[in-house]
Amino acid sequence: MNKTKTEEKKEIRLNGAAVSAGIAIGKVFLADTYQHCPPYREIPKELRQKEMDRFKTAVKQTKTDFKATYTKIYERLGKNYAKIADAHILILEDPALQKKTQDLIKNGSNAEYAVYKTMEEFIVSLDSLQDEYFRDRRFDLQDVCKKLIDNLSGQNKSKLSSLGSDSIIAAHNLTPADTVAMREQFIKGFATDIGGKTSHTAIVARGFGIPAVVGLKNLSAIVKNGDAIIIDGNRGIAIVNPLKETVAFYEKEFEIWNDEYKGLEKLKDLPSETKDGVKIAVLANIDSPEEAENTAKQGIKGIGLYRTEFLYFNRSDMPSEEEHFENYKKAAESVSPFETIIRTLDLGGDKLFQMGLLNTDEENNPFMGLRAIRLCLKFPKMFKEQIRGILRASAFGKIKIMYPMISGIEELKAANNLLEEAKESLRKANEKFDENIEVGAMIEVPSAAVITDLLAKELDFVSIGTNDLIQYTLAVDRVNEDVAYLYDPIHPSIIRLLKQIIDGAVNAGIKSAMCGEMAGDPFYTPLLLGLGLKEFSVSPIQSAKIKKVIRAVKISDMQGLADEILKCGDRNITEELLNNIKKTINV
Ligand code: PEP
Ligand code: MG
Repeated sequence: MNKTKTEEKKEIRLNGAAVSAGIAIGKVFLADTYQHCPPYREIPKELRQKEMDRFKTAVKQTKTDFKATYTKIYERLGKNYAKIADAHILILEDPALQKKTQDLIKNGSNAEYAVYKTMEEFIVSLDSLQDEYFRDRRFDLQDVCKKLIDNLSGQNKSKLSSLGSDSIIAAHNLTPADTVAMREQFIKGFATDIGGKTSHTAIVARGFGIPAVVGLKNLSAIVKNGDAIIIDGNRGIAIVNPLKETVAFYEKEFEIWNDEYKGLEKLKDLPSETKDGVKIAVLANIDSPEEAENTAKQGIKGIGLYRTEFLYFNRSDMPSEEEHFENYKKAAESVSPFETIIRTLDLGGDKLFQMGLLNTDEENNPFMGLRAIRLCLKFPKMFKEQIRGILRASAFGKIKIMYPMISGIEELKAANNLLEEAKESLRKANEKFDENIEVGAMIEVPSAAVITDLLAKELDFVSIGTNDLIQYTLAVDRVNEDVAYLYDPIHPSIIRLLKQIIDGAVNAGIKSAMCGEMAGDPFYTPLLLGLGLKEFSVSPIQSAKIKKVIRAVKISDMQGLADEILKCGDRNITEELLNNIKKTINV
């Protein structure tokens, strides 16, 4: 009887954002969510003070819970991640939020309803912001209110303890605290209706390596506890009631994924070199010193891109020189004797508005506006604090500095002048640093790509940021789904630019690397090798795949392939040629 019922269920596929890689096959565990407003109850005048006390007790309890989360995250993932819980306490105690909620309670609303209504009102104003990062802060606000309502209604103490070992959490939204609790239960994965790439739960999930898909819109309304579900954290898909064929497909995918994971273990001690003996470096892209530690354990020999933006998130002040120093020192020490390439701040203008540095919170074209090195040159004091932190850390490991979004020589010279000033100030203070620290630039703006040979005179290395290079060359916003079909790493213009950058660096006698996502996709590895790329910096999870391709090909063959691709100038033929290679090397 039951069997017939299962067979009758229709497979439902939902598309969302892939925020944490991996495949999970299991059963739905529907977490409590508050996507609907709790019911309104009019509180009689004489009981309103009691309702207010109930609210204040819940605020206190919520703060205690967040502090406990902070400690757990701190122990497991380190300070940078723990700041997420810290940010939640700031939201919880925000005077405007508190006042609005308490006013509603004074006027007779029950506390749960007052909290929900206040949250709704604040979310409307966050939604109107243009910057993705700030819009995503609505999820933090929702996290805080969810926790507060949980504590008010006594429904808290999530039923996570009753989870089975094959549970996949489905929820409207999850707090980072939920994510941590899940990890302790060895949850297989999670899927939520809302959330973005920069939502904190997504960041924590990545840190823990839990497969996750967010932004699935109405998943939590569709599924029931115990439904079969598959999470494809590589493609951003959730499949409810999967058909037998789908399960079979994903079981295979899971095996491949697992093998690749294990493959990393096996490949760990094998040299990263081609069949004809050319050594190729595969380094890691990271966001925090804790990740540096993990990559070192995985046998990855160095950090090719340390994005330092994470240090600036969830706060209204600037990180101090000391914080910079401690973070970079920790990363460099765990990666030592290999190198750590620290990229200086790459943030847009809006964040700095919050930090009180800018007078405007809006730019018409933020991607083309006051971002990255431009911002740093406008605020040299801020820039020098970071640079001094990097320089001081260079006394403790092999550190290199890299500037993002360089577009011309004058800009590069201006950055280097500030670097010299920072060095001089450290010399005067008798602070130790690597006097010969290497300096590089990301090549991610077309103007820089075209003049790589000229920039190279002022640099020790370049690293190609294809995420931005493709966006700027093809005039395709890298986060706009409507034009995503135009975002093409094998557009002939991109391939020609890559060739020009790599040749420019080689002729000038400096190293060239690639740290954009193109470097981490094994489909493009044969082409990149053929174009002369000798260093790949990729998300740690991708490194095994790239190393496998490297070990399966001969550079001489790949050069022939790249020549053919450059000559044909046709993206479809290029795709066909790369598919052929993929079949031939079978990795
Ligand atoms: C890039 O643009 O390719 C890059 C690596 O930098 P980000 O993705 O941080 O802009
Ligand atoms: Mg970039």
